[in-house]
Amino acid sequence: MKTVDSPLGQQSDSYYVAEQKIYPREAFGRYARLRTLAVWVLLGLFYVSPWVQWNGRQAVLFDLPARKFYIFSLVMWPQDFIFLTGLLVIAALTLFFFTALGGRLWCGYACPQTVWTEAFLWMEKISEGSRSERMKLDKAPWSVKKLVRKGLKQTLWVTFSLWTGFTFVGFFTPIEVLLGKAVALSFGPWELFWSLFYGLATYGNAGYLREQVCKYMCPYARFQSAMFDRDTMTVTYDAERGEPRGSRARGADLKAAGLGSCVDCTLCVQVCPTGIDIRKGLQYECIDCAACIDVCDTVMDKMSYPRGLIRYTTQNALEHKATRFLRPRVIVYGALLGGLIVAFAVALALRTPVDVDVIRDRNVLYRLLDDGRVENVYNVKILNKTEHAHWFVVRVHGAGELTLDPPAPRFDVASGDVFPASIRVRRPAYEPLGSEDIEFEVEAEDNPKLEAETKARFLAPTR
Ligand code: SF4
Ligand code: SF4
Repeated sequence: MKTVDSPLGQQSDSYYVAEQKIYPREAFGRYARLRTLAVWVLLGLFYVSPWVQWNGRQAVLFDLPARKFYIFSLVMWPQDFIFLTGLLVIAALTLFFFTALGGRLWCGYACPQTVWTEAFLWMEKISEGSRSERMKLDKAPWSVKKLVRKGLKQTLWVTFSLWTGFTFVGFFTPIEVLLGKAVALSFGPWELFWSLFYGLATYGNAGYLREQVCKYMCPYARFQSAMFDRDTMTVTYDAERGEPRGSRARGADLKAAGLGSCVDCTLCVQVCPTGIDIRKGLQYECIDCAACIDVCDTVMDKMSYPRGLIRYTTQNALEHKATRFLRPRVIVYGALLGGLIVAFAVALALRTPVDVDVIRDRNVLYRLLDDGRVENVYNVKILNKTEHAHWFVVRVHGAGELTLDPPAPRFDVASGDVFPASIRVRRPAYEPLGSEDIEFEVEAEDNPKLEAETKARFLAPTR
């Protein structure tokens, strides 16, 4: 509870403490380089991939009105949504697996919130300066200099956010068409809404909410501790080595001064994007970004102490016990993940771009014709999942002499269409042959590789 001044000038007790703005200091080092690389790769993928062309169309396009998802050569139809489900399950298991092994690697290096916040922080730095300059500028009264710096930051943020919203919509509407509409100021209502919505979400989350998204809004931060155990690698302060902390002259005798390795410079707190002090132990606010490792390593270098006062380690290692990387939960997550990836790859490789579905007309068992033959009627559905229309021929194979009506059925099926056809199959009703399984085969005239087959039951009388 904190004592605060009320608007009426009286003092009152309140449980509410206003959020303090965090000014993270820039960190340099191997993990900062790794994060910068991740930012470039991930943002590069996001901003560049809608512009890549493939087979005369956008390589990655989620065409919702046509219910088609294009990912390079792969075209996914509503019937293929099982693959999307598979992808989501694989993504979740990957997260569990790497969290069990390496803690919040996702949060520290790959989460969109981290990645975009890094980009926004960079724009803030080039417009408002370093951490201390930013703090000074915020405290200073309004002046031309402050107006120019803040104006430049807002211009960069807003432009980048709008570009982000535009790119996001470009995954659902061909981005070149979208650019033409943007130039002509003729966005449709949905395109305008989603561009502004996504742009605003980026602006708000990466510009202002930042660590509050991780601390209060992200559900993953809440349940990730369930995936941690004593063998999970996570960013940790080695209190045994660091304490008692305190300032000292360079080269001072630690034993004589009764001090540990921590010089209490607070740089690890200043670089922390969530504003916590890692020296207080493992906290749910820590996103494992390792900025405190980088900065503390520089301090250790300056003091000529060994690096690693703050480091990636496990609770067991800190307690001088052996760390087990291969443990039941890692093996279970790994086995499930490996199995699912193999199953997904096999299912994708075996996926046919053409499907045929045959159902015998249930209204009639069979029909005996005047010429002594027996006839069955089938409803045949041909699904063309390719990107182009094709003529498909239908053939039927069975033990007897089978004839078709129409005699040589061929159908023009547009891309993405399910073509329904009614086909009569006839056969002499001789003995000993009675009912049997017959096979329907569908093949594109211009490409024999586009084919599919299925079985159906041919009913015939027996005497
Ligand atoms: S950066 Fe290292 S030395 Fe400085 S306060 Fe943090 S733990 Fe101590
Ligand atoms: S404590 Fe260290 S690793 Fe955790 S969020 Fe802060 S800087 Fe990143």
